[in-house]
Amino acid sequence: MGWKIELLHLGKMRCHKSRMIWTENRETTIEIPVFGVLLRHPEYGTVVYDTGLPDNWQNCLPEGLQASFPVTEQIPMAEALAKKGLSPEQVDMLILSHLHFDHAGGLRHFAGTQAGKAVIISDTELANGLVKAFTGTGPSYVRELLDVPGIWYRTISEEQDLFPGLRLFLQQSHAPGLIGIQVETDNRGPVLCVSDAVYTEENDAAELPPDSPNPQVSQGFLANLKLLQKRRRENGAVMLYGHDLDREQQWLREDDGGI
Ligand SMILES: [Zn+2]
Repeated sequence: MGWKIELLHLGKMRCHKSRMIWTENRETTIEIPVFGVLLRHPEYGTVVYDTGLPDNWQNCLPEGLQASFPVTEQIPMAEALAKKGLSPEQVDMLILSHLHFDHAGGLRHFAGTQAGKAVIISDTELANGLVKAFTGTGPSYVRELLDVPGIWYRTISEEQDLFPGLRLFLQQSHAPGLIGIQVETDNRGPVLCVSDAVYTEENDAAELPPDSPNPQVSQGFLANLKLLQKRRRENGAVMLYGHDLDREQQWLREDDGGI
């Protein structure tokens, strides 16, 4: 018996497609999922990766952010865990890929819990996120979502095995030190959870970055994608993208079917 991977569906947002991938028509909008990943092992325990949007998103997300990424559905982390027969107190370890509002927003559910005492984040993203949140210079980093009483962070600065079969690696795309997970699962074989380094299957298949006026964004995206594709080849893995609605819905149906 080894790791089992399941998705925790936590909501949906809408945004311009160009935010996710270069597109001819810059007016096109798409719906994107917000989810966490649940990893369970009979010996090593329960690990959660990312926490979704804040429950009080109407009140705490800046207006500009709500206009760019209108929330169309939000499911509290505790509710998503309850569907799997779990509570936040029963989660042993929490990992945040990065500190954006749609990944760190549910952190509050883990305040005062075992997992909340040492939330894993990269040292570079913690520094980046806190500076932006505390200076108001990065709207995706919302101070009240990150500085939560009862939450403490544990930083990592390099690739490492968290447990046998569960490896954390750092990416240089989307956010500095974005944590990815490479996990050997019983139900889906080797999986690479890459979060927002690759939003959708189309980014991967067409090797197309998001549309950005900053050339460093597309260069960073493509360099990181090459490393991921190599890692996938070497491990025979499947990639779990950060915001691909079709893929997420397919995984959820398969999870329900008991894969
Ligand atoms: Zn995201």
